[in-house]
Amino acid sequence: MPKAIRINQAGGPEVMQYVDVQVGEPGAGEVRIKHHAVGLNYIDVYFRDGTYEQPMPGSIGLEASGVIEAVGAGVGDFKVGDRVAYTGRPLGAYATERLVPASLLVKLPDSIEHDTAAAMMLQGLTVDYLFNRSFPLKGGETILFHAAAGGVGLIACQWARALGVTVIATASTQDKLDLAKAHGATHLINYRSENVVERVKEITGGRGVPVVYDGVGADTFKISLDCLAKFGTLVSFGNASGVVPPFTLNDLSSRGSLYVQRPTLFHYTAERASLDQMAARLFEVVGSGKVKASIGQRYALADAAQAHRDLEARKTTGSTILVP
Ligand code: NDP
Repeated sequence: MPKAIRINQAGGPEVMQYVDVQVGEPGAGEVRIKHHAVGLNYIDVYFRDGTYEQPMPGSIGLEASGVIEAVGAGVGDFKVGDRVAYTGRPLGAYATERLVPASLLVKLPDSIEHDTAAAMMLQGLTVDYLFNRSFPLKGGETILFHAAAGGVGLIACQWARALGVTVIATASTQDKLDLAKAHGATHLINYRSENVVERVKEITGGRGVPVVYDGVGADTFKISLDCLAKFGTLVSFGNASGVVPPFTLNDLSSRGSLYVQRPTLFHYTAERASLDQMAARLFEVVGSGKVKASIGQRYALADAAQAHRDLEARKTTGSTILVP
């Protein structure tokens, strides 16, 4: 019997119930996919706890890798047996199998394992747009990347190194900073015990950085602005510590004519051509060996609640896989 995590109300990890589900046959434009690996992401916490709303009863999960078992009408580009991965809505990736719109799927090259795909589709495509679209890096820059030992963070450290970009990494423990360094970061700041702004100014000869990538949100927002050079860009892409509080435009002018962006991956992947281009870049950088999946922990899908507890308690590093 297929299994999935379902939610009847927003709340703590305990609201996730592991239940039997009916999957059925794919409708027009859909496929049925048997999952081999499911990706855990911080955004799943927001959908579980109500930071991001969804109709109830609800599902959870935005990323998985697997094999197509059935194809609905009008699906021309995929067939039964194809190895595929996806990220995007509708929610419901925390499942052993499910129906998915074919428009979300990308075919996996033989060289990419299911675990790698499930660790990389959401977090790796995010680094692709952060570095190639939000603030395109050319090489030679020094950037600040917060929570650098997390899922997005360890991919970013490696990708930046591949681009010839110097990373100033922040994290909450020395072990996490060491991990960021092993993945390519050059300068390490413990943002629990050190003054981030002072350290960044010291490292950059007083100038500040041209770009800060900030997935931490509320706790780091003002710090990030203070770390920017004149005309610098803050890419605020997440809220692990809480949603960024309101700020004024004068906060940007007074610090040096700054820019702030609040992007979301799914706007970048909505167009098929863009998704294909992003996935091709991701598979190329992974295929070259310059960026490797860094899977810090695996949990049985049935133990998704424990995975959420550990993620929220900042106990995880790198990417996390739920095993269906
Ligand atoms: P991570 O694996 O990076 O986990 C979150 C990390 O944030 C923690 O490990 C912790 O690292 C840090 N953190 C800082 N403050 C807190 C806090 N109060 N509670 C919990 N964690 C905290 O998660 P992901 O890689 O999945 O995602 C990273 C961020 O990027 C998230 O905010 C996520 O929502 C966002 N994101 C946004 C996307 C977009 O397109 N906008 C796409 C993908 C991710 P430490 O202990 O070192 O502080």
